[in-house]
Amino acid sequence: MMTKPIDRLIKILRLEAERHQDKAVVGGLASYADTWLQDAKPAFGPAASDWVQEIAERLRTYSDLPDTASRREALVTLQGVVRRKPSDATPTRQSSQESEREPSGKGTGPSKPSSLRPDLNSPVTSLHGIGPKRAERLARLGVRTIRDMLTFLPRRYDDYSQLKPINRLAYGEEVTIIANVRETHQRKTRDGRSIFKATLSDGTGSIEVTWFNQPYLANKIKRGKQLVISGEVDEYLGRLCFTSPQWELLREELLHTNRIVPVYPLTEGISQRWLRRLMKRSVTYWARRLPDYLPTSVQQAEGLLDLESAILQAHFPNSQELLERARRRLAFDELFVLQLALLKVRREWRSEPGQPIPVQDDVLHAFVGGLPYDLTEPQRRSLQQIVADLRSPQPMTRLLQGDVGSGKTVVATAAMALTASAGAQAALMAPTEILAEQHYQTMGRLLRESLDGDVTVSLLTGSVTGPEREAVYAGLADGSIDVVVGTHALIQQQVEFKRLALAVVDEQHRFGVRQRGALRQKGYNPHLLVMTATPIPRSLQLTVWGHLDVSIIDQMPPGREPVLTRLLLPVERERAYAFVRSQVEEGRQAFIICPLVEESDKVEAKAAVQEYERLQDRIFPDLRLGLLHGRMSGEEKEATMALFARGKLDVLVATSVIEVGIDVPNATVMLIEGADRFGLAQLHQFRGRVGRGEHASYCLLVAGSSSTQAQERLEAVEATSDGFELARKDLEMRGPGEFLGTRQSGLTDAVLAMELAEIADLRLVEKAREAARRFFATDPELDDPAHRLLARRVDRLLEQGGEIS
Ligand code: ADP
Ligand code: MG
Repeated sequence: MMTKPIDRLIKILRLEAERHQDKAVVGGLASYADTWLQDAKPAFGPAASDWVQEIAERLRTYSDLPDTASRREALVTLQGVVRRKPSDATPTRQSSQESEREPSGKGTGPSKPSSLRPDLNSPVTSLHGIGPKRAERLARLGVRTIRDMLTFLPRRYDDYSQLKPINRLAYGEEVTIIANVRETHQRKTRDGRSIFKATLSDGTGSIEVTWFNQPYLANKIKRGKQLVISGEVDEYLGRLCFTSPQWELLREELLHTNRIVPVYPLTEGISQRWLRRLMKRSVTYWARRLPDYLPTSVQQAEGLLDLESAILQAHFPNSQELLERARRRLAFDELFVLQLALLKVRREWRSEPGQPIPVQDDVLHAFVGGLPYDLTEPQRRSLQQIVADLRSPQPMTRLLQGDVGSGKTVVATAAMALTASAGAQAALMAPTEILAEQHYQTMGRLLRESLDGDVTVSLLTGSVTGPEREAVYAGLADGSIDVVVGTHALIQQQVEFKRLALAVVDEQHRFGVRQRGALRQKGYNPHLLVMTATPIPRSLQLTVWGHLDVSIIDQMPPGREPVLTRLLLPVERERAYAFVRSQVEEGRQAFIICPLVEESDKVEAKAAVQEYERLQDRIFPDLRLGLLHGRMSGEEKEATMALFARGKLDVLVATSVIEVGIDVPNATVMLIEGADRFGLAQLHQFRGRVGRGEHASYCLLVAGSSSTQAQERLEAVEATSDGFELARKDLEMRGPGEFLGTRQSGLTDAVLAMELAEIADLRLVEKAREAARRFFATDPELDDPAHRLLARRVDRLLEQGGEIS
């Protein structure tokens, strides 16, 4: 089936949200606008043409934005617009947006905004003072209905709540003064610009204020009026002054000054002052009409603001403290709904019976006893947890988390061995051919040794073709193959299992949810074990994997020497090369990782080829170099890896394709070029490629940029070999959005909510989790009529979020 235009767009936006570099599509989002128009117009029909058009506009303007911050903001708005697909558009999925509508005040179904009194779903035109033209402009901001206005939050706030007398002002501070207009003066410069000046005094002193190009001020700011000025104190010719500050005549209620002032995203034809006034009016009236879907019991137990206050305070905060509480409440909502969704998914998974596997203790003991080493304590514990799951009639949904090299493979192999010897089939899916091949070797060996050759293990990757492939298909279908190791090839349609009872996914973050799901689909509710080497702090674990049970291997096998990591300046590169050479002379091998190129695989491959040629021709003409990049065919990669593994190559030049899994114990140097461009977790993964044998190993990081932030991050990698510690640092430095990337998630909303709320305090996640658990226990089906609105929000998240599971 073809991907729907909206799904494709959502994917692109998600990708873009990982870095905000306008690189999600080649040529930038602007270049995607036409494709979008072409695909979306016929797909959604005339009813949605405004919406389709607006998205195209926004895609176009996106590429003109000057920096990450503005792109980030624009992207959030754009994603909001995309979500607001008009309900009468030709639906793209089963789910229409119906569920978004709450019944109008009378509770009699969808509103008809034209004649009835306006409700939350009425278009903004039903508000006083908004005609079609302004409505169109607001629509560009993603605001179409009254409800949209309430959730259209300020992008920042200016705190002008600090009132000061003129004689206490200091240069550079943000303040508010209230003063009397003594004198005004209007003139034009030679180039035709207008300058309006006013002299203000408040009894303690006087100060001059200048506005440029606002000639109409002469009619508003007049001698004798009381004026409120908010802004940064400036200086001109040695005297303090204000330049183009916010202003407002002193009235009873101040909106633009002397308070924490909201600053909204704007678009052409909409001014901050106009929008602020509109918002004030609408929010004050409508916030109390917004149904609060959060059960009162939860709200009270968590000490949260009610929804009305939260919305009011999020727009027009009375104090920093209330603003903080408003943000907390809104962020809590997102997290709470997400947690409920995760609990619901988990319940659904577990409600259908799986296939209990009668694991025999003697087989377990034989397997463990037959290993060439003792399992570490956490390996043993994880295996026990897995065995308990396998025996249970409920399908296992477990995540095995452990740092690179902590020994996850052997634990998974044990589970597969136990499954096979109980007469069922097990499959392991790995993200790359190289890794699948390697697992096939090690697992095959372990399985055959432990089960006395009683088990048939096969490999299924893109490189297994022709009759060989047919044989694997046949073996899986008739059950003569017990264990299969492979890549995406495993989830091809032709693949059928006789009795798949255990599905294992290695390096799960490399797969999309659908791919993971597809492997599960190959059996009847098989047990699912996913493995990851990305250590994620607990609070975020809950957001990402809240529906999984987690086993953690947090201890390395004994005798493992930490990899010595050194950060080098670009000018020290020669030293790094000399070091590589000296290691090779001692019989060791090295990896050299090329800088990350984001444009495309193709560009990256080209850069890698160049680097490889440069190294081979100029630096190491006498050594045996190999090259590995994403554009090579599976066979080519395989061949190169095999050469390297057998010691026929001294140095392997590679792109990030070797991030995961590869095990070559004789390799002792990992040299990473452009290290600042990789995430900390990724660097840690690279580093995990060495230090796997008896020899001391080294990781050399060459930074392409010497910015202090880059430096700081790399120093963190240098300082610790503990993946969890690094993950914590990474999270601290980058915030949850960047840390997770969006690959992980339809969790974008929740994660974004946290970012917007600047909730660095991730304890909120744990609180939301706990609250959701308690709540869920009382109404697991969410079918109590009192929880109807909440249930709807949860469903909506599951529909659009498709990414959970
Ligand atoms: P990862 O968790 O990164 O997948 P692996 O499963 O590849 O790690 O294990 C890394 C290496 O450690 C392998 O060579 C494996 O044989 C070895 N290993 C695993 N468990 C132990 C153990 N308990 N004692 C000694 N070596 C072990
Ligand atoms: Mg592994």
